Amino acid sequence: MRRISVFGATGSIGQNTLDLVRRAPQDYDVVALTGAQNIAQLASDAKALRAEVAVTSDEARLPELRDALAGSGVEAAAGDAALIEAAARPADWVMSAIVGAAGLAPGLEAIKHGTTLALANKESLVTAGPLLMAQAAQHGCTILPVDSEHSAVFQALIGEDMAAVERIIITASGGAFRDHPIEDLANVSVAQASCHPNWDMGQRITIDSASMFNKAMELIETKEFFGVSPSQIETIVHPESMIHALVGFNDGALMAHVGPPDMRHAIGFALHWPDRTHLPVERLDLAKIGQFNFRAPEADRYPALAIAARVMEEGGLTGAVFNAAKEQALDEFIAGRCRFTDMAQAVDRVVDAMLSREGLQNATITLDSVGQADAMARALTVEHIAKTKG
Ligand code: NDP
Ligand code: MG
Repeated sequence: MRRISVFGATGSIGQNTLDLVRRAPQDYDVVALTGAQNIAQLASDAKALRAEVAVTSDEARLPELRDALAGSGVEAAAGDAALIEAAARPADWVMSAIVGAAGLAPGLEAIKHGTTLALANKESLVTAGPLLMAQAAQHGCTILPVDSEHSAVFQALIGEDMAAVERIIITASGGAFRDHPIEDLANVSVAQASCHPNWDMGQRITIDSASMFNKAMELIETKEFFGVSPSQIETIVHPESMIHALVGFNDGALMAHVGPPDMRHAIGFALHWPDRTHLPVERLDLAKIGQFNFRAPEADRYPALAIAARVMEEGGLTGAVFNAAKEQALDEFIAGRCRFTDMAQAVDRVVDAMLSREGLQNATITLDSVGQADAMARALTVEHIAKTKG
């Protein structure tokens, strides 16, 4: 029996994780499941999987969670401190799948207890990569990437020497607007941006795919996790989303990871690592697929990529600023307070403004310094967007 916890259990990654767990419940002892607003799902999964504790990040929803769990023997808890307490409970494997910067602190806490951390929360690496990796090394924690591209790179690197790696190529579907007229991108709606051509994911990451902020995050994630230099990381648009990433070696070989666009592959790989086990994902029929396509990402369609290049060069707390500005700009877009194309402009300006004022590059990365940079970047983003509108 392996003791496992799932942070962000009610989300898209969390539910895919539980789908795999439910197929072999006898193999797992579920410690903690966490969510935020979806109390009904959280309570029903916690009861069905006999979790020790269910946590909602929203303290105001605790009475509801308590009611839903009454008589089940599952503890109910709420708030940020409860998330940290849940992350400190002994577990062999922890899934970090909270969306956004809120995922950093529970992930860091789990790392301190030496568990294996399956990392879907890319924001952890973008905002605090050096801290996360150093803590993992110090506490003997293995981090397994769950983002499909990074799981693909991780798998392509098994048995390889990092010194022989020349480049890492991250593929991108191109998102909802890969063929949309660029001059009309300012007018696209939230509903249009929330439809992904290939993947079924949470709304935020889906919109981030349309703007390529998601890919921008993944480039930074690649640098932080694999320790390569920004010049070794490339992006290619691959509309079929079946090649998830490629690793190029110094003998000219390219190792590609190919599979269906189903997150249960990357999640299942991390769940069973270091073994490979049967997973319920589609087997690709290459003859039926016929061809794979590739194109270079257009810089004016995807301005987020150039911002990511700058963030990687600057380092330090620039990633935390970038992520917070991006999260805030996304909130503004979803709320109808800015246009789709205003997001990249706002993030660019905020990164610029904070770099000129704060000496972010050399700052020490701690939970506190990340929190401060995050708060300032969000405030500046709101200000910038309000000003642009007015
Ligand atoms: P979802 O929006 O589907 O789910 C997010 C989860 O986080 C839910 O459980 C949600 O609870 C919870 N949550 C939301 N806000 C907070 C908060 N402030 N504090 C604590 N918990 C919170 O996201 P995804 O599953 O799509 O993504 C999760 C992470 O995985 C993200 O970092 C994303 O970038 C990454 N990822 C996702 C992929 C995908 O296929 N979806 C692919 C690769 C990476 P509730 O729903 O109850 O409100
Ligand atoms: Mg990805």
